Amino acid sequence: MRAVDIIAKKRDGLALSPDEIRWFIGEYTAGRVPDYQASALLMAIYWRGMTDEETIHLTMAIVETGDVISLKEIIPYAVDKHSTGGVGDKTTLALTPIVASLGLPVAKMSGRGLGFTGGTLDKLESIPGFRSQLSPAEFLDAVQEVGLVVAGQTADLAPADGKLYALRDVTATVGCLPLIASSVMSKKLASGSDAIVLDVKVGHGAFMKTVLEARELAQIMVEIGKSQGRRMTAVLSDMNQPLGRAVGNAIELEEAIETLHGRGPEDFRFLVTTLAGQMLFLGDRAEDAEAGRHKAEAALDDGSALAKFRQFIARQGGDVSYVDDTSKLPAARWIETVVAPRDGYLKDVNAMQVGLISGELGAGRAKKGDPVDHAVGVVVHGRVGQKVSAGEPLFTIHANQEERVAPAAERLLAACQWSDATVDELPLIYEVVR
Ligand code: URA
Repeated sequence: MRAVDIIAKKRDGLALSPDEIRWFIGEYTAGRVPDYQASALLMAIYWRGMTDEETIHLTMAIVETGDVISLKEIIPYAVDKHSTGGVGDKTTLALTPIVASLGLPVAKMSGRGLGFTGGTLDKLESIPGFRSQLSPAEFLDAVQEVGLVVAGQTADLAPADGKLYALRDVTATVGCLPLIASSVMSKKLASGSDAIVLDVKVGHGAFMKTVLEARELAQIMVEIGKSQGRRMTAVLSDMNQPLGRAVGNAIELEEAIETLHGRGPEDFRFLVTTLAGQMLFLGDRAEDAEAGRHKAEAALDDGSALAKFRQFIARQGGDVSYVDDTSKLPAARWIETVVAPRDGYLKDVNAMQVGLISGELGAGRAKKGDPVDHAVGVVVHGRVGQKVSAGEPLFTIHANQEERVAPAAERLLAACQWSDATVDELPLIYEVVR
């Protein structure tokens, strides 16, 4: 086979055969197809799209370039969760201990953030001693012992995805449904869980700006998982405004711990218990997702999810006294409140802008390997639809450089839109795709 013929076929809008897809991905990963030909194919896919069948073959071709984890000898049934990413998205931190406390093991490989927000591992590493890099044996031991492990990738999973993603990043081909779906699902399928709940974010602060686009992405990801015998559910959830209140690292962790104490923000608690309900249903721990949600609520209210979280942090070397007393977590030097400049109803609190501002305070990283500042970020007090009076707190800025406070305040106010008439609250969950 020749790369140029495969590129030409896709350029002309034809469907690629499974063999052509496998050959191209394999040869590219091995370094025998150069970046410029892979870029051309990515751009052809961007414009011409892929059939569901091609997308499934692309996903499996990416999976086959690396290791596939087997959890089978360790745990009878594992459920995983993946979010397509959003601002203030600390869901994993509260969700996974709930599910694990109800007897359903979670072995989760998480990422570090790239771009404006830290990732789950960055948030967890606000706790001194917490180890997110575990060997494969440590990873399996931890899930066997505690029923919950969250760590960085331990094996060489889907290496083609790493290479392709880096290329997509610099060739303007990230925002393409078959490429996003195959990228996400290749890593999920290689991580070995039997069932997967996807949290597909919709809105300003997400890849998918509309419910229509998000539904299409959710449907193809669900199809890919089912084609490989996985039980799948996707929840479409809002990312027009930040999730919960905190956007940062330590402040997000603190909010997740508050939620595990039963004191978290309503929207965050509802999303977490909804996703937990779906996971418990897929893992046969609840007769339906609603019954699962009630179990999740109970695990928050009776302290069992918090107890599981403490056990998990301790097992991975973290100092549990930081869970018991979150005032010990890294704190910023300047903590400044931004107040509402007027009376009115909040029409927009732009998630993307809040994420970018938090990133510029130091909560995110510009490139792989950069350190994040665990202490900084933004706490959002206003919600879309809320009636606010002039002088009421809208945001709290947590900064370690004084000169960053005023520009951040100005931009946060610019991220808000106002109305004199009442404004509907935003839905939190748009729909569920099975
Ligand atoms: N997350 C991924 O892992 N891949 C994408 O392409 C987009 C989001």
